[in-house]
Amino acid sequence: MIEAFLASDLAKPEGALIAIEETLTGQLHEDLPDLVARIDVIWQTDESTHLMDLKTSRSRWSEAKVRESADQLLLYQLLASRMAPDQELQLHFGVITKAKSPAVQLLDVPQDENRTSKVVDLMLPVWNAMKTGVDFASPSPMSCSTCPFQSRCPAYHG
Ligand code: SF4
Repeated sequence: MIEAFLASDLAKPEGALIAIEETLTGQLHEDLPDLVARIDVIWQTDESTHLMDLKTSRSRWSEAKVRESADQLLLYQLLASRMAPDQELQLHFGVITKAKSPAVQLLDVPQDENRTSKVVDLMLPVWNAMKTGVDFASPSPMSCSTCPFQSRCPAYHG
């Protein structure tokens, strides 16, 4: 998989590489706490700043899978656009399949302001419930190992 990644456009995007695993923190709504976004790769071309999230997968991603998974990147875009409102942002998934001959995909994520604002609206009742003690933590070895909230999470068991 690493060889396939290194031989692909994902490892050397067109333009200037400006960040790897960059953390952005900021508010998406006045009634929500800060969102922490960890952006795998950021690069810049003459026209745009590109944000990419890297994924491994059993199989190639379809357009439907891109749309289904896009919320995370749409929120990252909203956060980044508030920090740099004059930047034209483009979103991408980089997908590497876990196969004997891995396939590598660079997939554009369509931007959808309507969807982004619906996701933010969905976060509001969840956050309000959490403030009253309702706990939505969903521990898993993959998520918890890199979670910045381990020290404050009642569901984290190491
Ligand atoms: S440590 Fe807690 S908040 Fe973080 S991913 Fe695990 S369950 Fe979720």
